[in-house]
Order: sequence, then structure tokens, then C-alpha cells
Amino acid sequence: MSKSIAGPEIERLIQLLAKLPGLGPRSARRATLHLVKRKEQLLAPLAAAMATALDEVKVCSTCGNIDTRDPCTICCDHSRDASVIVVVEDVADLWALERAKALNAAYHVLGGVLSPLEGIGPDDLTIRQLVARVAAGGVDEVIVAVNATVEGQTTAHYLIDQLAGFDVKITRLAHGVPVGGELDYLDEGTLSAAMRSRTAL
Ligand SMILES: [Zn+2]
Repeated sequence: MSKSIAGPEIERLIQLLAKLPGLGPRSARRATLHLVKRKEQLLAPLAAAMATALDEVKVCSTCGNIDTRDPCTICCDHSRDASVIVVVEDVADLWALERAKALNAAYHVLGGVLSPLEGIGPDDLTIRQLVARVAAGGVDEVIVAVNATVEGQTTAHYLIDQLAGFDVKITRLAHGVPVGGELDYLDEGTLSAAMRSRTAL
């Protein structure tokens, strides 16, 4: 076993930071050193911000988003069109769509996708809550914005079945050529999906 170069408190910090996405042991070590060298300017406010987040972060009981309030900031934003619900797999997808300023609508975070192989069924996701939101009325369109994977598409079909009895338009994201993409570099699946989803110019 390699010798420790720092006390257990610092080693623990390195180990925890190394679990963050995009950080391996090496970057975690650099980040830790950066933090401990700037104890007052960085480590203290970061620790305080983390403690606050730990106390305040909760899952929105309406849409499944993560925020420090329930209902979340997005659900409380009355400038949004609440008659359109964008269904996403994960909060990261919600954030990505918000960054793109794609639509000023409401959201519903499923918390994953159906995956028989991994034992994830409808009750493990927030599908029942979505159906309840649609059943409560005032929803004109549900946009199924799940990933273009086999599990994502299985989930989309399941959602369409569950929402079939309601007077609501169900749409999905287009599959096709990415912005700036060159046809020659695309795989056959993407190209044939793009051809099927072609639109009038
Ligand atoms: Zn919410």
C-alpha cells in the first residue's frame, strides 16, 4: 500500500472529491490542495454552502426537480406555460433544456427509464404522478423528451399508453441530424431516423 502524504481528514476529502463526475484521484488531489491552501476564501464558504444545501435541498413533489423549495422554482414560475409538460429522464436533462432556452414550459422528471434488465419498472419512476398531473386538467401537450436509447423509447411508448385516455397531445423530440452535423459521419440509425422525421422546408 502506498504511504499517505496527508492526514486522514485531507485524505478523506480527496477520496470524496474523487467520486465527483469528471474528477479522478489526480484532479481530486489538485482540487483538495487548492481548497486547503485557500482555507478562508474558498474552503470555508464552500463548506458553508454545502451545509446549507444539505439542509435545504429537496425533491419537488410536483415535478421531481431538485431545488431548495417545494414546489420548485420552475413550478412556481407563473410566466411559464403550464399547459405544456416536458417529460425528462433526469434533472440533468431538465437543466440542459433550460440552458438551451428551448421552451418556457413545465417539466416532469421521471427519475430514470424503464429497464426490465435492471429491474426498473413503472413504480420506480414518477409515471403515476405524471398521469395524475394530466388527469387534474389544464394540460394540452406532453412532450416526451427522453433519451434516444432503447430504454428511452420503451418508456416513451409506455407513457403514450398510459396517457391514451386523456385529451392531450403527446409529442416527442425529433431524432435526426445534429446542428452542424455532416451526413457522411452519421450512423445509419441516426440517418434513417432523420429521413423518417423529415419536415417541409
Ligand atoms: Zn417542480
